[in-house]
Amino acid sequence: MEEDVFEEYRQIFYDYLEKKGLSRTSERFAVLREACRCGGHFDVEALHAGLKQKKYQVSRTTLYHTLELMEDCGLVRKLRFNTGAAVYECSFRRAPHDHILLSDGKGCIEFSDPRIDDIIRSLEEEHHVRIKGRTIIFYAETV
Ligand SMILES: [Zn+2]
Repeated sequence: MEEDVFEEYRQIFYDYLEKKGLSRTSERFAVLREACRCGGHFDVEALHAGLKQKKYQVSRTTLYHTLELMEDCGLVRKLRFNTGAAVYECSFRRAPHDHILLSDGKGCIEFSDPRIDDIIRSLEEEHHVRIKGRTIIFYAETV
């Protein structure tokens, strides 16, 4: 992630914590920086290992809580694949996209398809709602 984009993440998180009356601890910002550094999909264990390597002592409880806060202010998105622990990805300033999870640990394909946006628009009209988020995960095997 570019440094100026990270700076936007930092500012949004800073403002969010202030607005919520939560303390702006160095641990929280270390978690944010590590999440931004990870890129792609990451889980709590990867974050924990990355922070430990940098000599930050951040408990898993703090990690989970900080990720919840980051999710609440729209900086990260939590993906619940059917393979166990949740994974996260930085979502601010990223185009909406969906996922195809390959079986046998062969990874995950990210894709954007404008037809899904068409479906969303049509659902909004049909049901008089505004869709604010989405999680579409296809489970697949390579052929
Ligand atoms: Zn993704």
